[in-house]
Amino acid sequence: MGMSQEAQPKHWLDRFVNKLMLSGKQRFVISGGMAPAGPIHIGKIRGEVIYPSAIARELSKKGFEVEHIVIIYTQDPLKAKEPLVTKQFIEQWKGIRILNVPDPWGCHSNWVDHFMEPYLESYEAYGITAKPVYTHESYKHPRMQEAVKQFIEKREIARNILNKYKGGKLEPTWFPIKALCEKCYNILDTKVTKYYPEKGIIEYTCPRCGYKGITSLDNAKLEWRAEWVSLWYTYKVDIELYGKDHAAAGGSRESCNELIRELFGIDPPEGFAYEWVSLIKDGKREEMGSSEGVSFDIDEWLRVGRPEVLKYWYFVMKPLAHLDFDPAKTIPTLHDEYDRAERIYFGVEEPAEKDMIIDIKRAYELANDGKVPEKIGIQIPYLLMAIIDQIVPEGPSKLSEAIKRLQRTGHIQSNLTSNDLKIIEKMLSKSGYWARKYAPESYRITILSSVPQNIKSKLNNEQIAFLKELYPMLKTWTESDYLKLESALYSLIRQVNIKSQDAYKALYMILLGKPSGPRLASFMLAVGLDKVLKLINDVIEIS
Ligand SMILES: [Zn+2]
Ligand SMILES: [Zn+2]
Repeated sequence: MGMSQEAQPKHWLDRFVNKLMLSGKQRFVISGGMAPAGPIHIGKIRGEVIYPSAIARELSKKGFEVEHIVIIYTQDPLKAKEPLVTKQFIEQWKGIRILNVPDPWGCHSNWVDHFMEPYLESYEAYGITAKPVYTHESYKHPRMQEAVKQFIEKREIARNILNKYKGGKLEPTWFPIKALCEKCYNILDTKVTKYYPEKGIIEYTCPRCGYKGITSLDNAKLEWRAEWVSLWYTYKVDIELYGKDHAAAGGSRESCNELIRELFGIDPPEGFAYEWVSLIKDGKREEMGSSEGVSFDIDEWLRVGRPEVLKYWYFVMKPLAHLDFDPAKTIPTLHDEYDRAERIYFGVEEPAEKDMIIDIKRAYELANDGKVPEKIGIQIPYLLMAIIDQIVPEGPSKLSEAIKRLQRTGHIQSNLTSNDLKIIEKMLSKSGYWARKYAPESYRITILSSVPQNIKSKLNNEQIAFLKELYPMLKTWTESDYLKLESALYSLIRQVNIKSQDAYKALYMILLGKPSGPRLASFMLAVGLDKVLKLINDVIEIS
């Protein structure tokens, strides 16, 4: 019995899970891939472990048996490019199996560990459920050995299929496997010269070091599409997503689907394509890529933000939405969007886009691995936290000092739970780290201790008149509510008849010594009105 249109769940991930549930299987193996070719970036985990972890969780919740793995490609040759490593390093190690390449930064025992350690350490934070499987071990698996033999023996069929997609590039002498050179660990361009089917061994030569040898089939690596298919076969993979570069009609995923049907007589895994995340740096847009080191690393995200915020982004967007990540802007924006989703989830805010309510709420649940908090959490704008981290003195009383300021702005009340305190402390350090490393100039601040002469002389008569009116207003201000102060400021600006940008500029100049800065009302309350009054007084010299 098919499901009616009406009964279809609205969120794209639920629709995919629904399709799997109707397949008649009781057990699913879900897989993803991770190539430690360089740093593991936030774009990579989107379709390879974040979406699969959610799919695995949903299937188990519905009573299915699920095995979730992620293939770590440790049997790959080094393909790193500049500027990730130096030209000299590339010349020395190119083509060597990455397990045998040293850590260029010297902090781990080899290349793989250097990039896998931060990845594996981020698992818990991101709620990743995948069990890592390393390809250098996969080759020892009996089913993998079976698949390797199948590819070698049916290489003519495989070659014809691949040539259909690749446009006739593979020669009749093509061999789908490369030996791992036992002398220099080259696994990029060794050449098989002979195959002994009854012994399951190959003869090979290594152009890199000149070695000629004989080795078993587990000391080798299949051409990557043959490898992908063989891993599906080995682990009986039912579900695997794929990056958009594999997705095109006539692309690699399609060729792999045909290979597994023709050579193994089984159906390819279910899946869907997902898009890349681009990194915006100095106004330039580049697709994230491990080999070049164009990356915002997954452990770096944990230093600037909450994992559920990144996950919310991936779930609220469709998998084929291309995402731009600009550390200076996207990090604060995503945190504010997540807080908004939380308000919508708990019914304290109505979104303007009514047709998005279900998707927003569902994305919020998925971002929290289905374990949604009992009530709405403490909500403080990311940028305000970044400011407070910079104006509160370092030391043991930093947290209580920050809380005092957040009470003045009206962002928190006095009855805080220990969990609230934990969140505030965490967000303070994350947004502070962001401010030091990624914030745009206007959010990097130092409050002046007094207003220097060169700034005083830049203020015009209108600005000084405005400050003279502002002084008594702030002097008697008692409300802990930045919204009220914001509207009072605005009324005063209209009353004095000054252009609002001139009024704001005057305040930024005397507080920060520069013409722009964070949103004023909450900023002034966070700094403390006494301090603001002192600086205004430096200019207008009333007392
Ligand atoms: Zn290292
Ligand atoms: Zn060699």
